[in-house]
Amino acid sequence: MRSLIAGNWKMNLSRAEVRALLESLRAASSSWDAVDVAVYPPFVYLAEAAEILSGSAIELGAQDLYWKPSGAFTGAISGPMLRDVGCQRVLVGHSERRHVFGEQDEETEQKIQAAFANGLKPTLCVGETIGERENGQTEQVVERQLQSGLEGCTAEQAKRGLSIAYEPVWAIGTGHTAKPSQVGEVHAMIRAWLTDRLGAEVASETPIQYGGSVKASNVDQLMAVADVDGALVGGASLEAESFQRIVEFQSV
Ligand code: PEP
Repeated sequence: MRSLIAGNWKMNLSRAEVRALLESLRAASSSWDAVDVAVYPPFVYLAEAAEILSGSAIELGAQDLYWKPSGAFTGAISGPMLRDVGCQRVLVGHSERRHVFGEQDEETEQKIQAAFANGLKPTLCVGETIGERENGQTEQVVERQLQSGLEGCTAEQAKRGLSIAYEPVWAIGTGHTAKPSQVGEVHAMIRAWLTDRLGAEVASETPIQYGGSVKASNVDQLMAVADVDGALVGGASLEAESFQRIVEFQSV
């Protein structure tokens, strides 16, 4: 399977900075033949990002979506709107949506279904807090998040671009990367869960990304772990050279 390296820009960057970063990535992307690359800018920059990335192999995604197509939902952005501005992908259930904005497991299921209904490739983000890990609940929490988010997901839908991002909450934006052994254990569990739920063929074709303080200096080590099929990168994706090095799996 091809690796999927994605940059989640969160609520960062000015319009001028977004433009400059996209231009640099676009220029570098002509040599990124062996890897799938996606970026997730803030909503307000998506339309312009789509224009800059047009014709390049870099896919554009949104950081969230609401499951209703339109209506009285102040502040929300729908799947049809994301398609309309040129998105191909969307993140669902990122830990900041869950822990800062109180997103519930059931909402992730509706969002995954809305993504598929609108031809968007969803990445379901899962991961335990430090307290849950210390209480030995990692597997239980990740399984619950998979079960809820993918409750209605069929094998046919999954083949249309589902990916999973394992992002331990304690490793996101903290500089504390999970150890390769910790990453390997959870990724193997996710692969087994996918096999059981959607079949071996779909499970083997569904990228499982790791996220949590990935940078150019640790990407080699993390990508070498079995069942790690890519990375979801936050902080280190905000700067062209560092993201480029991650995409190219180069250590500093
Ligand atoms: C993320 O936002 O998904 C993430 C993993 O952030 P960081 O790389 O900054 O830890």
